[in-house]
Amino acid sequence: MKISVPELQEGDNFLQFRETPSSLELTGLSVEFATDIPVSLRLQRRKDEILVWASASATVTEECSRCLKAVERKFDVEFEAFCDKIGARSEKGEAGQEGGETFVAFHDGTTLELGPCVREAIVLSLPMKPLCSDDCKGLCPVCGANLNENSCTCDRGRVDPRWSALEKLRKKEEK
Ligand SMILES: [Zn+2]
Ligand SMILES: [Zn+2]
Repeated sequence: MKISVPELQEGDNFLQFRETPSSLELTGLSVEFATDIPVSLRLQRRKDEILVWASASATVTEECSRCLKAVERKFDVEFEAFCDKIGARSEKGEAGQEGGETFVAFHDGTTLELGPCVREAIVLSLPMKPLCSDDCKGLCPVCGANLNENSCTCDRGRVDPRWSALEKLRKKEEK
């Protein structure tokens, strides 16, 4: 996602991009990105310094961490970035390192590459344990039945439900 720095005017600039999962290197993760990823940018330029407000939305297909069903989820990401010209930073120390959700990026006076910031913001907002619904009943640890769809007669009280071990085993068997 390259932005041409000479084309940015002083003050506000508004740009739209339509990225793909592969252009943002969002492939090979634990989730799959189902659609293109639109990104809206507001870039406020003051000479070499550029403040960026970005928003993006993505749709992912991920596995419910309890029942392993594939679920599709759309989510929005917003972040800010402070961009400066390469080399300017060392003279000014760590100014602009405001922490939190503010990213720092550099341009060379010609191009500003914001792809890694967008990628990072999206990856950081992925849930650790996605669920198909908040009250997902998960799988029976004895027979593996999806308890949202079926009931079984297993005596589940006796089994220590070591979910992660069971899930790993199931994934291996499916491959
Ligand atoms: Zn589930
Ligand atoms: Zn069962």
